[in-house]
Amino acid sequence: MKTFQYFQPTEIRFGRGRLAELGSVTARFGRRALLVSVREEPCFRGLFTRAKARLVKAGLAVARFDEVIPNPTTDVVTRWARAARRFRADVVVAIGGGSTMDTAKAIAVEATHPGSAWDYLFFRDTQPTAKTLPVVAITTTSGTGSHVTQVAVVTNPAEKNKSALYHPLLYPRAALVDPELMMTLPAKVTAATGFDVFAHAFESYIHPGGSPFTDMMALEALRLVARFLPAAVKNGKDLDAREGMAWADTLAGLCIANAGVTLPHGIGMAIGGLYPHVAHGEALAVVYPAILEYTYRVAPEKFAAVGRILDPRLEGQKGVRAAEGASEAIKRFIKRIGMGLRLRDLKVPKAELEALARQYLVLPDFKNHPRLATLADVKAILDRSH
Ligand code: NAD
Repeated sequence: MKTFQYFQPTEIRFGRGRLAELGSVTARFGRRALLVSVREEPCFRGLFTRAKARLVKAGLAVARFDEVIPNPTTDVVTRWARAARRFRADVVVAIGGGSTMDTAKAIAVEATHPGSAWDYLFFRDTQPTAKTLPVVAITTTSGTGSHVTQVAVVTNPAEKNKSALYHPLLYPRAALVDPELMMTLPAKVTAATGFDVFAHAFESYIHPGGSPFTDMMALEALRLVARFLPAAVKNGKDLDAREGMAWADTLAGLCIANAGVTLPHGIGMAIGGLYPHVAHGEALAVVYPAILEYTYRVAPEKFAAVGRILDPRLEGQKGVRAAEGASEAIKRFIKRIGMGLRLRDLKVPKAELEALARQYLVLPDFKNHPRLATLADVKAILDRSH
């Protein structure tokens, strides 16, 4: 058996109604909490106000930061890192999707270190230290898995570049995963974030850094996505479907924290960096069909295993034939959840594909893909996806 290690320091509290524990959990990390979220819209039904009330009831002083934006930027992080310092925050509480949790993690670093969060990206010599503030994460999407990862994705608008901090100190200390909080997600966001879960599980499974442990979780996450994502998209109030997706998201997050992602995320992040209006899940779904076609021949067994989850008719098939069937089954699944997109639908101009292709080298993800893509390969993938 392959040798492997597995690390996961986040305390996970999973299940319906767990938001009620926010105050007591957070109080373990200090007395002054910076509460990070998007702005409270009617669709959230007072969620952030309720979260704040829980913290206050537990005796915490709370400063509220409600300016998170999707695909969060370094300037927003800087403004609120200053506020966290002024407030002398002991702990950062994130309640929202990946954009919120990543903003909170970046604030936790920038508020306690010289320079900006961008100075602590994964490849830099300078890395976060133990001064980094603890983060408590409450995820409201299923999703990015950020509630159980050491990753904070941020975009630098001046450089038009999306990159990541990546350090064990960025694992949230505690994660509350309460599927009741996801019932208000609109169908389109459910589909886009749910496809991110699929991508995390699938890419971890084909990643050379995968292990028997992450493979087990990735396959279970894929089974859950196949079973529950279409139902959650169809009826957002289906609590069983929300619960299944919340568990899939958590498992897939544990996978990426210990294995990683591959070429689709490398290209998807480049799309998000250059075109911030494109949701992360959309950026993935749009390139997946072309990447599947580009890849299935070199990883037939893994593709076949995933294909059999989505299409039981592949049970009797073997080798490249089964892998091709798997690629088709995944493409059909993408369409079924309403994510059959083209780059032109997302307003990515054809004339910019060359520049976009070059960005795939920014992150190391492509190096872990079963087939090592050249610039020409990536350009061809983007052309096919337009
Ligand atoms: P998001 O956080 O940007 O949220 C998407 C939209 O849904 C926002 O408008 C938000 O306000 C809304 N929303 C969130 N929860 C809701 C709810 N319960 N009800 C109604 N509306 C709700 O989306 P996301 O996909 O969760 O996060 C995307 C970001 O996470 C990207 O920047 C991506 O690169 C990053 N990411 C991070 C990791 C990681 O490990 N840190 C992994 C993958 C992706």
